[in-house]
Amino acid sequence: MIVIKTARELNCMREACRISANALKLAGTAVEPGVSTLEIDTLIHKYFEKVGAKASFLGYGGFPKSSCISVNNVVIHGIPSEKCVLKEGDIVSIDVGAFVEGYHGDNAYTFPCGQISKEAQQLLDATRESLYEGIKAAQAGSRVGDIGHAVQSYVEARSYSVVRDFVGHGVGAKLHEEPSVPNFGTPGRGVRLLPGMTLAIEPMINIGTHKVRVLDDEWTTVTQDGSLSAHFEHTIVVTPDGPKILTIADDEVRL
Ligand code: MG
Repeated sequence: MIVIKTARELNCMREACRISANALKLAGTAVEPGVSTLEIDTLIHKYFEKVGAKASFLGYGGFPKSSCISVNNVVIHGIPSEKCVLKEGDIVSIDVGAFVEGYHGDNAYTFPCGQISKEAQQLLDATRESLYEGIKAAQAGSRVGDIGHAVQSYVEARSYSVVRDFVGHGVGAKLHEEPSVPNFGTPGRGVRLLPGMTLAIEPMINIGTHKVRVLDDEWTTVTQDGSLSAHFEHTIVVTPDGPKILTIADDEVRL
């Protein structure tokens, strides 16, 4: 079932999304060589404690931490660890959701750690831009396939590949709601988009093959060929006046 949010629900979503975006922004400020992904996760956890939010991912399906932090060839679902210490040149995908007063906000961003290669920077730029292409396509009356097509055509024109095994999703009182929002698709196909639908659009883009595999920890998802992967995500609402991004951080975020 696809939930069309009421004005009251959208207000709650806005707050959850703001907190979620603040946590992501704060996490990004901590990305630098020598910092472990566990330290970044702890920062996120402390921020949620301070503002009275819960981490959407903590305990979700048994996930052990408050955020997913995925470095270089890790596509998504990297488990923060003190053993994973960032190095100059890494790309660091941080995915974090906040649960506030019954609603979730979900967002992700791939941060550069210090100076990164031109190849890595181009992947980040293209993936971020593809997210905005996907968001632009989320017009009332359009279909889910239009979003996927917008993302896919943008990145494939730049010779990157779209991860198929994981997709975006509706988001609201539940972290993952219908509909699924693939980052690939056919224009005019799939669920029709209606005002009040809240969607997490989240392209996961690889330099090499689109194929991924899940490691023995049953979470960490890596590219099959070891190539770099990037991940950007916003929660948006479909409105009669076009898509609106909900995961917008405050100008200043402090722990
Ligand atoms: Mg998501």
